Amino acid sequence: MEDSKKTTRKTTKRQCSFCGRPENEVGFLITGVNGFICDSCSVQAYEITQEALGETQTSTSGFSKLSLKQLPKPTEIKDFLDQYVIGQEDAKRYLSVSVYNHYKRLLQKDTKDDVEIEKSNIIMVGNTGTGKTLLARTIAKLLRVPFTIVDATVLTEAGYVGEDIESLLTRLLQVSDYNVPEAEQGIVFIDEIDKIARKSDNPSITRDVSGEGVQQGLLKLLEGAIVNVPPQGGRKHPEQKMIQVNTKNILFICGGAFDGIEKKIAQRLNTHVVGFGAAKKTGNIDRSNMMQYIAPQDLKSFGLIPEIIGRLPILTYLQPLDHAALRAILTEPKNSIIKQYTKLLAMDNVELTFQPEVFDYVVDKAVEYKLGARGLRSIIETIMMDIMFVIPTQDIQEYEVTLDYAKQQLEKANFAGLHTA
Ligand code: ADP
Repeated sequence: MEDSKKTTRKTTKRQCSFCGRPENEVGFLITGVNGFICDSCSVQAYEITQEALGETQTSTSGFSKLSLKQLPKPTEIKDFLDQYVIGQEDAKRYLSVSVYNHYKRLLQKDTKDDVEIEKSNIIMVGNTGTGKTLLARTIAKLLRVPFTIVDATVLTEAGYVGEDIESLLTRLLQVSDYNVPEAEQGIVFIDEIDKIARKSDNPSITRDVSGEGVQQGLLKLLEGAIVNVPPQGGRKHPEQKMIQVNTKNILFICGGAFDGIEKKIAQRLNTHVVGFGAAKKTGNIDRSNMMQYIAPQDLKSFGLIPEIIGRLPILTYLQPLDHAALRAILTEPKNSIIKQYTKLLAMDNVELTFQPEVFDYVVDKAVEYKLGARGLRSIIETIMMDIMFVIPTQDIQEYEVTLDYAKQQLEKANFAGLHTA
C-alpha cells in the first residue's frame, strides 16, 4: 500500500526541488537521488558558485589591494625603515622615493595626457651584511605586497645547467598563492647581481653562459615582458604547464657587494680630475668611503652590460657598518636581537638584562672576526645558550648577563677557534 502510494506520487508530480515548478512549466528536470533541479535553477546555482569562488580566489594570499590613499608617502616609508634598519640614510631615501613612485605609477590607470611614468628598478651596492636584503624585505612588509628574494648565482642562460631566468618569478608566484595579478605587482629582490657580471669589460668572444648570457636574459624581465614561468621552478620542460606573468609592474631591486668596485671608483675619480677645480675636487674625496661616489659607469667597468645598467636607473649604496652602527643594531631596531632574547625570557617570566659593557664586547668580537652584522647573532647565541637551557626550569624572576659571563661563555665555546680558520 505504502509503496504503491510513493510510486504514484513520483510519477504524477515531478517538480523542481529548488523553485517548486512542475515539470511541464520548465525546460527540463535533472534527476538527483532525492529530488530534481530545473534548467534555470541549475544555471543560477552555477553563477552563485562562480561568484563565491571568484571572491575566495582573489583573497587567498592575503595581500591587500593598494590604493593611492593607503600608499605611504616617502617620509613615512623612511620612518618605517628607520625602525628596523640602522643608518644607511642615502639608501633609505632613494628606496623610499623610488618605491613610492613605482606604486604611484601602478595606480595611474588611464592617462589622458600620454605621459607614461616609466618603471624604475633599483640597484643597491654595498658589502655583504650591511642591510640590503633587510631594506628590501622591510619595504615589502610595509606595502604588504608579494616579496621574494632570489639569488642570481643559480641562473644560467636557457639550455645550460642551472636555472632558467624565468624561474626568478616562480617564488613570487608561490608567495602569492599563484594569484597572478597579485604577483604582477610584487617586488623581487635579486641578490648577488654582481656574480653575473661578465668576466672582463670587453664583450666576450667565447660564450659566457652564466655572465653576459644571463644579463641578456634578465633584460626583458627588468624592462617588462610577458614571460612563461615554470610553476615549480628549475628548468622548463616541454610537458610542464607554464604560467604567464607580465613583469611590467614588478619592481626589481638588485643587490650586490661588487667586491673591489672601490678601486674602479677611485680610478674614475682620478682620471676625471683634470682642468679647473680638479685639485679642489680631489681634496674633498673621502677615501675611507669610496662607495658613496658610485656611478653607473663603475658598474660597467665591473662587468654589467650597459643595457642592464640602463634598466636599473636608481643606483644607491650602503655604508660599511662601523662600531657604533653595529652597537645600535644590537639593541635599537624594533626586532633587534636583544629585544628578541628579552621577549623569549619574558615568556618564562624572567626579566633579562645586560651589562652595557657586554654590547661593546660583542661588537668588538664581531669586528675582530670580521663577521659584520650577521655575526652579532651568532655571538649572542653562543653567550645565551647555557642560560636558555637552564632558566626555564629555575625559579628566578630576573637575570643579568655580565661582561665576565659573556667572556667566559665565548671562551668556553671556543668561539675564536671556530671563527679564525
Ligand atoms: P646584505 O646586505 O648582505 O643583504 P642583510 O640585509 O641580509 O645583508 O643583513 C644581514 C643581517 O644583519 C640582517 O638580517 C640584520 O639582522 C643585520 N643588519 C645588517 N645591516 C643592518 C642595518 N643597517 N640595520 C639593522 N640590522 C642590520
